[in-house]
Amino acid sequence: MSVKGRVHSVETFGNLDGPGIRYVIFLQGCPLKCKYCHNRDTWSVCGGTEMSTDELIADIEKYKNFFASSGGGVTISGGEPFLQAEFLKDILRKLKNAGIHTCIDTSGYVNVSTIDDIIHYVDLFLLDIKHIDNDKHIEIAGVANLKTLEFARYLSARNIPVWIRHVVVPTITDDENDIMDLARFITTLKNVERVDILPYHSTGKIKWEQLGFEYPFDHIRDAEKNDVLNVKRIMSETGVKIDT
Ligand code: SF4
Repeated sequence: MSVKGRVHSVETFGNLDGPGIRYVIFLQGCPLKCKYCHNRDTWSVCGGTEMSTDELIADIEKYKNFFASSGGGVTISGGEPFLQAEFLKDILRKLKNAGIHTCIDTSGYVNVSTIDDIIHYVDLFLLDIKHIDNDKHIEIAGVANLKTLEFARYLSARNIPVWIRHVVVPTITDDENDIMDLARFITTLKNVERVDILPYHSTGKIKWEQLGFEYPFDHIRDAEKNDVLNVKRIMSETGVKIDT
């Protein structure tokens, strides 16, 4: 059986989305509406190209020796990968059968009661926590953060490795008290291998404009090195082990 899904694009040489060199699959569809989304064209689950999991596996096999020798593997990103749950499960199962390291890059906006049969095919999660304050999360992402935080606790309870990611958007996601709250939450998790603090940049704006949408964060400047260092410092002082 080969399940079909909607694929936005693939990247055969990713080095930002998990350990080693990654073959990265960007799936269509996202239930969030982040105001700084850099992949605005992934939101519709009807977009992209229809592909079967077998087609993707055949392409991945061509690069397998290359990324495996770097300690890498395949990362499934989006959009939100869990939105195409059957496709996700099928390709993860095939990847694990082929002995390939698997990683999912997710917002965590999922019902944890529905994913037990998927997560055991995943070696590592990259979990974006966009804002620890629920009201501010709704303001920037269009949905509450409760599912994301529940998902983080769910992975922790099962001891599944996770890298937490937080994007520093100046004046929006870098308030000192919020960062301290985020750090305190992270310290309650027992499965966090790494915390990545990433700078916001406005390079996604062009996609919004190409699609005919106004870019909501036009008035927000890009994050600079010091913005990131400041957030890392607060995290570190609140007990999160972080590379500075
Ligand atoms: S979760 Fe990712 S893909 Fe979805 S809207 Fe937010 S930034 Fe864009």
